[in-house]
Amino acid sequence: MKPVPEHDPSRREFVRHCLAGVAGAAVAGVAGAAALGQRPDRWVWQVDPHRCVQCGRCETECVLQPSAVKCVHAFAMCGYCKLCFGYFHAEAPSLDSAAENQTCPTGALRRRFVEEPYYEYTVDEELCVGCGKCVKTCGQFGNGSLYLQIKRDLCLDCNECAIARACPVQAIRRVPATTPYLRKDVAASE
Ligand code: SF4
Ligand code: SF4
Ligand code: SF4
Repeated sequence: MKPVPEHDPSRREFVRHCLAGVAGAAVAGVAGAAALGQRPDRWVWQVDPHRCVQCGRCETECVLQPSAVKCVHAFAMCGYCKLCFGYFHAEAPSLDSAAENQTCPTGALRRRFVEEPYYEYTVDEELCVGCGKCVKTCGQFGNGSLYLQIKRDLCLDCNECAIARACPVQAIRRVPATTPYLRKDVAASE
C-alpha cells in the first residue's frame, strides 16, 4: 500500500481527528473511573477477615444451607507446616489424615505432602460449611493463612445479609462489586 506523505493535508486532518478522539476517550475514561471510585454501581456483602472472630454464625445464619461462606487459603502467608493446627485438632490421637485427628468436621481441608517437612493445605469448597474452626486454630497457633469469605458465585446478594445482622463484631460489610473479596494476602491499597 502506498505510504501517505507527511505534508499531505488529508493525513494531518486524519491525525488531528484521531488525537482528538483519543483525548476525548481518555477524559471520559478518567471521569468515569473517578465517578466509579466515588460511588460504585453495586455493593456486595463480604467478610472482613481482620475483624472476624470465628464465632460460628457464618455457618448457621446464612439463608443458604450450606452457607455461602467458605474457607479460603492465603498460600503466600502459609508456613506449609507439617504440624498444622488448622488441620490437626489439639487432642489428635495421631498425626495422620484419619478423620478423628482433623479439626475440620467435614474433611474439607486437604493435606498434601510437598517435601520434608512441608505440606500443602487446600480447601474443598464443596465440603466446606464455613464453620471457621480451622480458621480459628490456624490463627491461634499458626500464621493465620486460612480465613472466611462470602463466595460471590454462591451468595444471593440479600438486601440485608442475615449473617451481618447476627455477627457479634460487625465483620460483614458491604464492598464494591468490582472488588468483592477482602484478601488477607493483599494490602488494603492494592
Ligand atoms: S458471624 Fe462474624 S465473627 Fe462470626 S464467623 Fe461470621 S464474620 Fe466471623
Ligand atoms: S473447618 Fe469449617 S471452615 Fe474450615 S474447611 Fe472445614 S468446614 Fe470449612
Ligand atoms: S447475603 Fe444472603 S446468601 Fe449472601 S452470605 Fe449473606 S445471608 Fe448468605
